[in-house]
Amino acid sequence: MAKRHMIIKKNAENKVIALDRINVLFNEAKSVFSSNRTLADRYVSLARKISMKYKVKIPSCFKRSFCKHCYSYLVPSVNSRVRVREKMIVIYCDNCKRFSRFRYKE
Ligand SMILES: [Zn+2]
Repeated sequence: MAKRHMIIKKNAENKVIALDRINVLFNEAKSVFSSNRTLADRYVSLARKISMKYKVKIPSCFKRSFCKHCYSYLVPSVNSRVRVREKMIVIYCDNCKRFSRFRYKE
């Protein structure tokens, strides 16, 4: 019983660490984007790997900053176009020429 409790506690700790790393990676991606886009994309893929490994969701504030098709880091008006259409945010990725849609909350 005690051991099982320890495992649950450790998982929760790992999730906190994983979320923290995802935050750091997206902030790094943002700062390196202007000088090195390949590195920014790499940070996105690392963040996704962490989120899958520890089963944590990528925070909603970061979900729109990468393409869900090719996973490249997107900056509006630089390598993506953002349009608002009928309560949906439509993001067009310049890299793979595909659209991503997000529900728009009022
Ligand atoms: Zn794309």
